Amino acid sequence: MTASLLTDAPGRCMKCGFCMSNCPVYGIDPIESHVARGRNMLILQKQAGTLPPGKAYVQSLSHCLLCGRCRAVCPAKVSSPEITVAARAAVVRQQGVSWSQALVFRGILKHRHLMAHLAGIAARLPGLGSKQGTPLRHMADMTAVVSAGIAIPRLSRPFLADRLKSIRKPPDPSATRGRVVFFAGCGFEFFFSGMGQAMVEILTRSGFEVVYPQSQGCCGIAAYNAGDVKTARKMASANLSAFTDCDAIVTGCATCGTALKHYGHWLPQGNGLRAAAESLAGKVWDFSHFVHHHGFPGQPRRKRPLKVTYHDPCHLRWHQGIIEPPRRLLAGLQDIDYVEMDGADACCGLAGSFAITHQETSRAIQAKKMAAIARTKADVVVTSCPGCIVQLMDGAQRHHVPVKVMHIGQMLNKFEAGANHGE
Ligand code: SF4
Ligand code: SF4
Repeated sequence: MTASLLTDAPGRCMKCGFCMSNCPVYGIDPIESHVARGRNMLILQKQAGTLPPGKAYVQSLSHCLLCGRCRAVCPAKVSSPEITVAARAAVVRQQGVSWSQALVFRGILKHRHLMAHLAGIAARLPGLGSKQGTPLRHMADMTAVVSAGIAIPRLSRPFLADRLKSIRKPPDPSATRGRVVFFAGCGFEFFFSGMGQAMVEILTRSGFEVVYPQSQGCCGIAAYNAGDVKTARKMASANLSAFTDCDAIVTGCATCGTALKHYGHWLPQGNGLRAAAESLAGKVWDFSHFVHHHGFPGQPRRKRPLKVTYHDPCHLRWHQGIIEPPRRLLAGLQDIDYVEMDGADACCGLAGSFAITHQETSRAIQAKKMAAIARTKADVVVTSCPGCIVQLMDGAQRHHVPVKVMHIGQMLNKFEAGANHGE
């Protein structure tokens, strides 16, 4: 993270306003300080020391999903999301992190074993994980307060680390195509371990040996994006030390994939792991990209055809540029009627803690997405990020849209591949 991100980069803004018609937040709250153009000007003023004191600056920095759409349409190629993150980091350096961020980033997310222990206890409680027994009195109210009313899925039992203790071999080990490290992130480890297992099964059926390093942890992007760079670097270093020799690192989480690909930028010059982080970037694959590139064997046909649509996670489309592989995989499945929704590339509104800290705006963005999904009349909406899955599941419930939300790994594990797989 360089100083020029704050001093030079915002000054390249031509004030054309292209970002305004593409920003999901500005689309809901048309306020200049809530979009890249206005925020970049505030950052310049802050650097020059001409910004009047007050909370407006920090509020402006928080009103960004970091979706990356503005960067994609910007004719001056201003990296507004990176500028915003650098500005948040500068605020954290001056003021420190809030107590809630310190609790979540430094107290919980940084310690996978503690997290697993706490989640393991929670998973046994009626209403949080266990389907047995009467939900604890007030538990629903408590989780609703913590999650700002978002319907959080039940915790998985068992977690993914428990499902994948040993190395998974392909059906014919003598014809192994390579060794893959599977990176789960918190979503597939604790909430959607069945989806994680489905991806691993596809990888092994496709001829790859899959290793699940038990000491992997949170990717750290929540801390990094909030400006807590110090904590994010520790998480990145822990993961880099956990990875073993492999041909590829595959993740089904668009957000984790973005983080892993950028570890080289997170770590400062002189850090002993920086070289490893830089070479890691070339090995990291999103699951859909990996499977589309290498091809995969199908499963027996279903009887009833399904209508399916796809939601682009921002971290896949705008941060990694992966657009076609998931669509081609879906369109190539037998018995699938693929339909593109309006604004498939628009953010779902979750964006980590944004859904909690800016609940109304997040819900309004979510409502647009659910209306687009409803218009397709799809049976299933598929995506490639556990965060989007949570937001879409919540949206389907909230807006009474009769659609099932699935990860692309689940879909591929249930349907037969067509002939057009493999790049
Ligand atoms: S699109 Fe780029 S150049 Fe145009 S106003 Fe937005 S940030 Fe500035
Ligand atoms: S990153 Fe997304 S939310 Fe933030 S200013 Fe750009 S378009 Fe708007």
